[in-house]
Order: sequence, then structure tokens, then C-alpha cells
Amino acid sequence: MGRYTGSVCKQCRREKTKLYLKGERCDSNSCSMDRRGYPPGEHGRRRVRESDYLLQIREKQKARRVYGVRERQFRTYYKQALKQKGRTGENLLRLLESRLDNMVYRAGLAASRKQARQLVSHGHVTVNERKVDIGSYQVKEGDVIGVAPGSKKLDVFKEATRGFRREQVPWLNVDLKNLAATVIEKPDGYNPDVEIRDEMIVELYSR
Ligand code: SF4
Repeated sequence: MGRYTGSVCKQCRREKTKLYLKGERCDSNSCSMDRRGYPPGEHGRRRVRESDYLLQIREKQKARRVYGVRERQFRTYYKQALKQKGRTGENLLRLLESRLDNMVYRAGLAASRKQARQLVSHGHVTVNERKVDIGSYQVKEGDVIGVAPGSKKLDVFKEATRGFRREQVPWLNVDLKNLAATVIEKPDGYNPDVEIRDEMIVELYSR
């Protein structure tokens, strides 16, 4: 399945929760979820009996949309999570959290994950002072995420030093003044923005 090209806000309405996909707009009065918090489409306001299967699908879609990951890639993360020690759901969320584009967003260097992915793919981001242009790159404990010297003058990074609204996560030590963040520990299955019930995703894939 290709990348979703429709209205971003409709994805939040479909999942009936704010997914914070549009940066600052998500905290403004223009947020569609605040104005029309029901699923899009002709039957959006109709009450639908949600089976366990439907709820599991919705949870998986929610996670996919939050992290901007395609179906096939999401399944690959699941298979990797399954092979790792510990709880599969937590492993899955850890793999998603450890993506470089997500870390750039979490560090407050971009207003949204979509913008973070673009900044990474355009070569503006470094890991341990080396340019990395792959959004899915997995960062590890001790890695230092930064901005390429020639890119620090970009408006987005000037704005970032003033701070995008972001809840701090315990696994990142952020130094916005120097546009840098150090990964101090492995991320856990905790997402400060959106609750993701990972066990439902595992149930879905275990069917
Ligand atoms: Fe749109 Fe952001 Fe509101 Fe979601 S949270 S509906 S992306 S403005």
C-alpha cells in the first residue's frame, strides 16, 4: 500500500483521537478533532458496534499513523519485535520510537514527524556528527543527534531553538541551544502524546 495522501486530520478523526500530525496547529483552535471529533464520511456519526478485531485493526492503524510507517514496514517491525527478548508489544513500540525521524521530532528539532522525516531525508541531520539521511535509521543509547553545520541557519532550526511545544521524554537529553540531543537510555513503550495499546496489535498479528 502506498503512502497516504489524503487529509492528515481525517486520520485523527478516523482514530477518534488526536495523533498530533500537524505540529503547532494541533494545539490551536483550528484542530479538526476539537471541532469535528467524529469519523469522516457519510456514516461518521453513526454508532458502530466495534468487534475485537476492528478494535485491534484500529490500534494498529493508529500506531502506523502516529509514526508514519507503511503497512509492510510496520509488519517488518513486528517480526523484529517478535524475535527480541521481552514483551513483543513493548519491543515494537521501542523500535518505532528509536527511528531517527521520531527522535528528531521528540527532541523538538521539528514541528511534526513528517517535517522531521523531510529534514532527515534532505541531509540536515547528523548522528554522532555524521550525516544520516534515512528516517528509519535506528538510534542507540549514547548516540548524539545533531544538525549539520551548514543547516543550522535554516528557519526551522532557528524556530526550534525557541522551542516547539513538546513533552520531554526520559530517554533524550535535549540541548536545544546547540540543536542537539543525546539518547541516554532505550525508549520504553510509553508515548507521551498518544496512548497506544500495544497488546492489541500483538493480538491482531497473532491471529
Ligand atoms: Fe489535525 Fe493535528 Fe488536530 Fe490531528 S491533532 S486533527 S493532525 S490538527
